[in-house]
Amino acid sequence: MSKPARVVVLGCGTSTGVPAIGCLDPVCLSDDPRNKRLRPSILIENGDSNLLVDTGPDLRQQALQHGLRRVDAVVYTHYHADHTNGIDDLRVFNFIMKKSIPCYAHPESAKIIRANFSYIFSDENHYVGFKPRLTLEEVGTEPFETGGMKVRPFDMEHGGIRVMGIRVGDFAYATDCSSIPPESMEILKGVRVLILDALRHREHPSHLTIKQALEIVDRLKPEKTYFTHTNYELEFHETNRNLPKGVELAYDGLTLDIRI
Ligand SMILES: [Zn+2]
Ligand SMILES: [Zn+2]
Repeated sequence: MSKPARVVVLGCGTSTGVPAIGCLDPVCLSDDPRNKRLRPSILIENGDSNLLVDTGPDLRQQALQHGLRRVDAVVYTHYHADHTNGIDDLRVFNFIMKKSIPCYAHPESAKIIRANFSYIFSDENHYVGFKPRLTLEEVGTEPFETGGMKVRPFDMEHGGIRVMGIRVGDFAYATDCSSIPPESMEILKGVRVLILDALRHREHPSHLTIKQALEIVDRLKPEKTYFTHTNYELEFHETNRNLPKGVELAYDGLTLDIRI
């Protein structure tokens, strides 16, 4: 029997990670593993096929912690460093799987990813050493199939940047957003499990606050919602105590069964 589909939260921290370097705030100094958050990324497992969403700077650590041995495809939500800077570590999966890895991004994200990592994507062979073997395919809002999964992308606003949210079956991942346009809310209708951006309580130009995220939850009414991209101001247990039923903070290592 094939394994059920599931999501593993590899990291749910904001761009600095929690603790942030040099930070002396209580959550950064906390020993509680729930207050330690790597840079944001998830893995969607479907049988023996693995779809990785983003390759942040903590990818190596995340892959080691979870015994990750294959990546069949990568979806890039956008080009920000906290979602891309671990890209070089994809080469180990090329070694293990002996094939290149298809990656997907919006055209505007793909352009910047190609420029930032030109040694990977340029045909000019000045680079001496092993580099990842990747294809970077540009996608819009049309569904596409990869790693045995149908991925339904949707657009989100991230302080002036277009970010890709994805829906896979009854699950959706919506990190790095300051608002979700009506056409994307339509795609999210009926979602059972949602992982949603909620940086902190105070307003921010490119992320949802807890209050704003709760407004979205109220409209979509998923069975379970987990907030991600959370910063050092959100103590895990204290924040959860004040969230409504069915909503809680994600944590690194959280595993969710989904239906594809
Ligand atoms: Zn981010
Ligand atoms: Zn971002």
